[in-house]
Amino acid sequence: MTARVLVVDDLEPNVKLLEAKLRAEYFDVLGAFSGREAVERAKTDQPDIILLDVMMPGMDGFEACRIIKSTPETAHIPIVMVTALDQQADRVAGLKAGADDFLTKPVEDVALFARVRSLSRLKTMTDELRLRYATGKSLGVMGAIDLTDAGADGKARIFIIDDQADQVDRVRSLLAEKHEVSTESDPEVALSRAKTGDFDLVIVNMALEKMDPLRLCSTIRSFEETRLTPLLAIVRQGDTRRLVRALDIGVNDYLSRPVDRNELTARVATQIRRKRYVDQLRSKFEASLEMAVTDQLTGLFNRRYLASHLSGMFDRAFWTGRPLSLLILDIDHFKSINDTHGHDIGDKVIQEIAAKIRNSVRGIDLACRYGGEEFLVAMPDTDRHFAGIVAERLRQEIADHEVTLNSGRDSIKVTVSIGISSTEEGPKDDTGQRLIKRADEALYAAKSGGRNRVIMGAAA
Ligand code: GH3
Ligand code: MG
Ligand code: MG
Repeated sequence: MTARVLVVDDLEPNVKLLEAKLRAEYFDVLGAFSGREAVERAKTDQPDIILLDVMMPGMDGFEACRIIKSTPETAHIPIVMVTALDQQADRVAGLKAGADDFLTKPVEDVALFARVRSLSRLKTMTDELRLRYATGKSLGVMGAIDLTDAGADGKARIFIIDDQADQVDRVRSLLAEKHEVSTESDPEVALSRAKTGDFDLVIVNMALEKMDPLRLCSTIRSFEETRLTPLLAIVRQGDTRRLVRALDIGVNDYLSRPVDRNELTARVATQIRRKRYVDQLRSKFEASLEMAVTDQLTGLFNRRYLASHLSGMFDRAFWTGRPLSLLILDIDHFKSINDTHGHDIGDKVIQEIAAKIRNSVRGIDLACRYGGEEFLVAMPDTDRHFAGIVAERLRQEIADHEVTLNSGRDSIKVTVSIGISSTEEGPKDDTGQRLIKRADEALYAAKSGGRNRVIMGAAA
């Protein structure tokens, strides 16, 4: 995996030094020499990670970080602040400005590579989601969403796995003010709780005694339920070897002991913000996808969905040699329902008929709203005889029960006409489109034959 890293420092030798180190590990490196240039290059070159010096004349690193993180085109790019002084205040200010991590000068090689790798791995995942989302947007099936403010506010569910009582108490008391904190000292129990607890963040002490903490972390990473849950490690100062292993396994971030209050809250906030960003992307994506294939009035699938799935159903019928049948249903004299009772009542009738269709088909059937007051049901593994039974039962159910209005005070008699087609009667070069055409012709025959009836398509 190679990532493109933007190194920002007002002193050229510093840029050159980091550049050489990163190049030696096959990273693709770009340089910038001021805060303003960093903001520009972030936008134009879209790096995977930015290493940003804090102290620069003019726009300093904090300011540049804030701008990059609040600009929609660059908000998703991870930023590592590089501070000259080993000062707690600088680190915290950096994380508050939206930075994802920090390194202190002189930059230690192991820490540098571990951080850069861990962040670029995370970015690969969010990029994939952003790409899918962009595709949906360009297809016109997704609206714009604001992802710059996924929000780090609000209670998060945090799980602390640690067998050192005094440290647990301290960390818990620091976090409990803002968050819902659970703790567990037994690693085996912790694993099953992590799996079912729906946590936003898991904090693991890297000096656990009862189980290898690295194994614990990799097990958490391997569960489907916690594959993406942020992991924060607490490590002993100087335990670089274990830290590097932990980051390789997929631990997202770490704190050194003794845990500093400000650093803890800032790092926890950053992890939670990231998680919410990813969650938000994922759920917006799924909701938009669902919206894109669902008819808003009836909740049935829409015509777009039918178009993309019918050919698959048709191919399956062909390969398995099992019949696929279609029915197309159209409400009789619907125009006069609209004219007599108004458009809103017309909508209500459409919804009622849709509900009856939904209730009379199986899970594997595909029911969709095909047009204004027209519906299509595709039934795999169903021959024309059985399709006829389903259709007749549905027709009768609708004809026998009037649609009630005004909480039962009024009712409207509604009937439907149904046309049926099946792959059984199809020609050798049958297609999904021809199947629809035959059902449509049968429907037409049902209409001209007097409506409120079911007609079976003729052999083509
Ligand atoms: P037929 O028995 O021949 O099917 O007669 P019909 O009146 O049902 O047929 P036609 O296709 O001429 O009219 C359908 C009407 O459905 C026309 C249109 O205004 C109305 N319509 C289409 N979509 C909607 C909708 O979403 N809501 C409502 N209320 N009416 C709709
Ligand atoms: Mg009609
Ligand atoms: Mg019609």
